[in-house]
Order: sequence, then structure tokens, then C-alpha cells
Amino acid sequence: MTKETLSRRTVLCRGVGLPLGGLIVASGLSNIANAADKVCADPAKMDSGQKSIRDSLHYVEKAPDPTMSCKGCGFFVEPKDGCGTCQIFQGPANPEGHCDSFGPRG
Ligand code: SF4
Repeated sequence: MTKETLSRRTVLCRGVGLPLGGLIVASGLSNIANAADKVCADPAKMDSGQKSIRDSLHYVEKAPDPTMSCKGCGFFVEPKDGCGTCQIFQGPANPEGHCDSFGPRG
């Protein structure tokens, strides 16, 4: 067994590396939480036609059953900025959202 000697460089690298690694992990977790909490289809920014079709199909930003969320739907187009697009609505949809037209990806 060899005895490890800690150089000043090793101590500095470890001293900076650990908090920096924690900061990077915390930042990544924050981005995931922000994407999940994001409102993709804000009714205040939609015209009456968009609101009407979403209401009729009971669109919600958070699926009651996560196994039936938009990200698993065949009509969902993958997100670019955290929000995807629904081919039924021809507009934004939350990956965690849901509506009555849910159809699992084939
Ligand atoms: S059809 Fe419904 S469940 Fe499927 S992507 Fe569009 S909004 Fe989401």
C-alpha cells in the first residue's frame, strides 16, 4: 500500500471540483424541474378556435396518468425548447400533458 501525498494542486483541484460538480448537478436537476413545470399551451395566448378544440378534447398540461402523457402519444412531435407539438391541435403540447385523443406510439 502506498502512502498518498497531497500536493497543493491536488488539494486545490479537489476543493474546487467537488463544489463545481455539485453546482452542475443542481443546475441539471433545475432544468429538468423547469421543463416539467413549464406551461406549453397557455390558453391566454390562444385564439378561440385553439381553446375550443383543446377544451373539447380535455387537454391538460399534466396527465393524470403519466403512462398516457403526450410524450408517449403517436400525435406528439418531440420538443425543441421543452415543449412539443401536437399534430391534432397543430400547436404546442406539454410532453407531460394529455387529452382525450391520446393514442400510444406504435
Ligand atoms: S393528441 Fe392529445 S395526448 Fe396526443 S400529443 Fe396531442 S394533446 Fe397530447
